Amino acid sequence: MKVISVRRNARLALVAFLVCAGFPVLFAQTSTQRSPVAPSREQVQAVVDQAYEKFKSDTGGKNADYIPALAQVDSKLFGVVAISTDGQIVSDGDIDHAFSIQSISKVFSLALAMNELGPDAVFAKIGSEPTGRPFNSVDAVVDMPSHTGNAFVNAGAIATVSLISAPSADAKWQMILDFYSKAAGENLTLLEDVYKSEAATNTGNRALAALLLKYERIYADPLESVDVYTKQCSVGVTAKQLAVMGATLANDGINPITHERVIKSENVPEILSTMMMAGLYDGSGGWAWHVGLPAKSGVGGGIIAVFPGKGAIAVFAPPLDEAGNSVKAQKTINYVAEQLGINLFSPRSVGLK
Ligand code: GLU
Repeated sequence: MKVISVRRNARLALVAFLVCAGFPVLFAQTSTQRSPVAPSREQVQAVVDQAYEKFKSDTGGKNADYIPALAQVDSKLFGVVAISTDGQIVSDGDIDHAFSIQSISKVFSLALAMNELGPDAVFAKIGSEPTGRPFNSVDAVVDMPSHTGNAFVNAGAIATVSLISAPSADAKWQMILDFYSKAAGENLTLLEDVYKSEAATNTGNRALAALLLKYERIYADPLESVDVYTKQCSVGVTAKQLAVMGATLANDGINPITHERVIKSENVPEILSTMMMAGLYDGSGGWAWHVGLPAKSGVGGGIIAVFPGKGAIAVFAPPLDEAGNSVKAQKTINYVAEQLGINLFSPRSVGLK
């Protein structure tokens, strides 16, 4: 990812201005829980609009083509949505185009497995170590035979699906789809063309599942697990629905639009920590360094980033870098995070004056 220059002075000036101005309506804040650095809705909208204009003509990266259907998606599509934990929405661009969720699904299947089994059992079986390897790495499985690395590499995600208990593969798929739909606050559906395209070409994932079987690290039928995993990756989401899913994580597991609890509160920190360490594959360290927000990308071109307690941003733009992360989405979120001063590791982002 090309690093966007840090505009510290501008950011500090903006934060100082917001603090001094004492905006009455704070983005992502209720009247009883204000952060001195939370920006106003108008400020967030302005920064989202600036980012959209700045990056909409960026031609970096290219669509994933190892899943043939993804190569067909219009590479110019670009949508940005930010949603606060009190349900305020700001957006720009193609926010209603449904695209495949791909790896971002892994966050929510992890949450479902943790809802059922608790964090300790999931941690023991799946792990939360960055692999430093590509998302579909076979070497990572061979090098870490005692666990699967983390729930966001393909091997770990397939093993996570295998952990979810259900009477049949169809029932498990339906449970997963219902769970994602609750997080999005709308009924999501399978993109059949993406599913068929991926199911016809996912020999690598089937090989990973066979390796997991060799190391006794898969907990249901391997091929069935790959098939459910392939379906979960082919769920269609819009940038807006994805932002609600991210804001559900930001809001301690409660959907900020429907107010329904989706993810157990006690599991949210573990999920976000895995996003921080492994959310952008072998680009995760660079992302933490530059942006400092837990995030998850998918090869469909989506990325969600979560500002815990405040809100989330989702960006959709199909062209990817070599690690499989959307180029425009990374630049957009990096820009928005810098301008709003919301890097989680900055003392200013948590209220230092
Ligand atoms: N379904 C994709 C795969 O298994 C997901 C990869 C991704 O989004 O990173 O390869």
